[in-house]
Amino acid sequence: MTAMKPPACWSCGGTVDADGLFCASCGALQPPVLGDFFARFGLTPGFAVDVAALERRYFELQRRMHPDRFAARLPKEREYSLQHAANVNEALQTLRSPVRRAEYLLALLGKAMRSSGEETVDDEEVLVHALEMREELADAMTRAAVEAVAATARAEADQVTAELAAAFARNDLTAAGRLTLRLKYLDKFLDDARERRGRLAA
Ligand SMILES: [Zn+2]
Repeated sequence: MTAMKPPACWSCGGTVDADGLFCASCGALQPPVLGDFFARFGLTPGFAVDVAALERRYFELQRRMHPDRFAARLPKEREYSLQHAANVNEALQTLRSPVRRAEYLLALLGKAMRSSGEETVDDEEVLVHALEMREELADAMTRAAVEAVAATARAEADQVTAELAAAFARNDLTAAGRLTLRLKYLDKFLDDARERRGRLAA
């Protein structure tokens, strides 16, 4: 994908900086360009995202877009600063979670997940394993027991995340869709484990 030439500044008609944020001539903040979530951080769409770098870029953008900086500027710039801040916030929420990033990427690549009501794991082995884990969690009567079950699920989630990255890397979207669903189940399971642990005495 070739980078598009940034449009001229809305305020003075001058040249806009390469990242499309500010005018190089008059310094005016430019309206946000609504590309995909990856583009909002200057990234090419892909599952491999350095979350620490993403968060650094997020804070940098939030700092540069902070409404206080535009208090004495044109009303239009104040408005754009709020839009920019909302846009990068929305993008960050999606991209920093592996599950949400995978779902978003699948949709972007044209393979949307089925709507949540019809999502099923059709692999019987995976299904049986998931039910066993549910039973183990239901049987765990101490925080330590819950933590042990959760640790196994976390290790499995790490493994599935690695497989998911490999599936996206070789552009196998069918496998990526299946693994995303598994990761979603594991995330939900870990949420439930946290909740159960909170309800148990130490
Ligand atoms: Zn300008």
